[in-house]
Amino acid sequence: MGKEQLSLMKALTNSEIENEKSRNQLTATESEYRSLFDNNPDAIFKLDLEGYIISGNLALQQLSGYSVEELIGNIFIDFVEPKDQEDAKECFTLALSGELRDYRFNFLDKLGSPIGCLVKLTPIMLKGSRTGIFVVIKDMRELDKLASKYIDSEEKFQIIAENIQDVIFLMNDKQEYLYVSPSSKEIFEYDNQQVGEKHSFYNIHPDDIANLEKLFNESIHNKNPYKVQLKAMHLKKGWIWTEINGTPVFSENGKFKYMLLIARDISLQKENEEKLQYFAYHDSLTGLPNRRFFKSRLQEVIELEEKTGEVFAVILIDIDEFKQINDNFGHETGDDVIQELANRLSSALDPLDFVARLGGDEFIALIANIHKEDQIVEKAEGIQQAIIAPWSINGHVLNITASIGIALSSLNGSTTTSVFREADRAMYDAKNAGKNLVGFNRSN
Ligand code: GH3
Ligand code: MG
Repeated sequence: MGKEQLSLMKALTNSEIENEKSRNQLTATESEYRSLFDNNPDAIFKLDLEGYIISGNLALQQLSGYSVEELIGNIFIDFVEPKDQEDAKECFTLALSGELRDYRFNFLDKLGSPIGCLVKLTPIMLKGSRTGIFVVIKDMRELDKLASKYIDSEEKFQIIAENIQDVIFLMNDKQEYLYVSPSSKEIFEYDNQQVGEKHSFYNIHPDDIANLEKLFNESIHNKNPYKVQLKAMHLKKGWIWTEINGTPVFSENGKFKYMLLIARDISLQKENEEKLQYFAYHDSLTGLPNRRFFKSRLQEVIELEEKTGEVFAVILIDIDEFKQINDNFGHETGDDVIQELANRLSSALDPLDFVARLGGDEFIALIANIHKEDQIVEKAEGIQQAIIAPWSINGHVLNITASIGIALSSLNGSTTTSVFREADRAMYDAKNAGKNLVGFNRSN
């Protein structure tokens, strides 16, 4: 065999091999295509150029409830819900002219129920010309349900946030504002648009920021909500008492999404609490501290004495024959006498001395840091002078005296009860000795 023949044979053999290869490739592509068509999870119609159904896949049978045989030969528009048929026709025409887009319309299944679908039409090209259209249909019912839930909850959130009397903030993990409800204007006088642009916790009192940031970060870490009372800035009123409830919100996979912060103006509540606190510790007639307040202050002074050895004394004052004032001039005048006595005691004592009304016509003063007995005797005499000074109440000239008992603290262990007992004893000594006197009980 000549050289030329040999190379021709080789060429022939090579081209045969190539042909064989491309035949195989074609078969492979065809079967791949079939499998892609048959097993595609999306439903697929194959249409001719008139819109008649030539074929359909398994997913189409499952979605529509029709068998492929029932579908073949029918016009595909008939399986579209009537309200969407015009759109479907238009998208078919556009697909034929090469314009490919996604559409949303409803198909009807065998039972006539609408199926919300995302539809894509693709021309089938054979040797450069269009021979038909593939209609790929994605069932959107589950996604639509989820989306409507989301929109629903978004709308609910919006309704709540826009109407609530508290201020709602959403913050990311960098403590940047993601959302501020419009109530910000009403509660803090800051426009919510303004707030969104500000730095984090711009309106929180400087003393409260560190704690708030700590709670914020801890709450993300341990996934627990928190509550804190602090001072926040009101554009016109200045610092106002505010309660903040923080709730960290996480996605389903546990990733932190945002912090939901609800801020409430509690200045009125605080004011009431302070009032209640005041009334719990003060006498309503004279405004002086009451027995409870006195007792707690006494306890503090006892503890201080135990630590530092600082001596203190109490002076107990009880008006003599007070019942007669009530009897002779009426209860109101009696009240006025009690009020006036409160004023006189406060004036006679130093601002650091602590004077209280124990009840009835009985008052008590706590004198801290006593260095000499004379000091306390002088105080008691000063009180006595203030009491015997002339009285004129409601046009009545009164002669008022009081019996006074002094108890000096005992370095070997005073208690509030023992101090009261000693002062009582000293005061009754004075009463028994003829009233308008000062009794002195040196308890050790
Ligand atoms: P003594 O010299 O022994 O202290 O006799 P007293 O008449 O002052 O009697 P006592 O201190 O035991 O009683 C105080 C009286 O004060 C009893 C009560 O009728 C009256 N009283 C108690 N609280 C009030 C009050 O708030 N207003 C008025 N007007 N009277 C009160
Ligand atoms: Mg009395």
